[in-house]
Amino acid sequence: MTPTLPPERYALFLWVRRGLPLVAAILAFALALLDHAHRGWWVLAGVIGLTLVWTTFQRGEAYLRARPSFIRWDARWVKAFRPLARRLGMEDAWILAFCGFHNARVREAMMHRKARKALILLPHCIQLARCKAPIFDDLSACYECGLCPVEDFLHATLEHRWESRITNRSHKAYREARAYRPDLIVAVSCTDRLLKGMVKVADVPAYVMPLSLPHGMCVDTQFSVPLLTAAMEALVEPKPRLEPVSREASA
Ligand code: SF4
Repeated sequence: MTPTLPPERYALFLWVRRGLPLVAAILAFALALLDHAHRGWWVLAGVIGLTLVWTTFQRGEAYLRARPSFIRWDARWVKAFRPLARRLGMEDAWILAFCGFHNARVREAMMHRKARKALILLPHCIQLARCKAPIFDDLSACYECGLCPVEDFLHATLEHRWESRITNRSHKAYREARAYRPDLIVAVSCTDRLLKGMVKVADVPAYVMPLSLPHGMCVDTQFSVPLLTAAMEALVEPKPRLEPVSREASA
């Protein structure tokens, strides 16, 4: 059974991204009342602060239309506070909160108008490092040994008729995404690549999911195929389904 897509967690990002400009705007307006000599400048600072807050309230179609500028602007906040988050041991949590914030906006926007042409992007490191199956060129080249998530992903792809790419370089993934021209990207990767990818392909709505790294970066990484399926079911118009396919069944 497909699990329900869990709620997005982004309070950390929202507190900083919405909270700081709001506090700055309130301070600026208070100073405008006290400092008559520079009132104009304080009012201007307050208006800028409120404008920064206002963008975080954009939803639905308005969000999708302006998404590239929101993403690029919010990514500057992520980069600005990333060193502090790293010092506090919260770097991944900080980046994932940014991802969660935009995931939530995309989920909301797609609730009433699901994507019709979605593309799944996955990194090469989901394949077992010692496996020689040439799945980059053809996912069905997987031998279905079950030692890595590729087998489950293959079955789900065949069943739901997903379009997907597994790439070993970020720039190839961006190129594939631009060539396919999807109306939604569902990407699984490490947090750093998720951040970069969202900025590089900001014009395409994206739902992003982090990899688990039980063996460290880029080696035998894991992700939940049921959770990916839940995301696809929540965000993408289903295609007519085929029966689950395996080589044994089709032999
Ligand atoms: S499931 Fe087995 S054969 Fe398929 S990619 Fe993973 S390790 Fe290779």
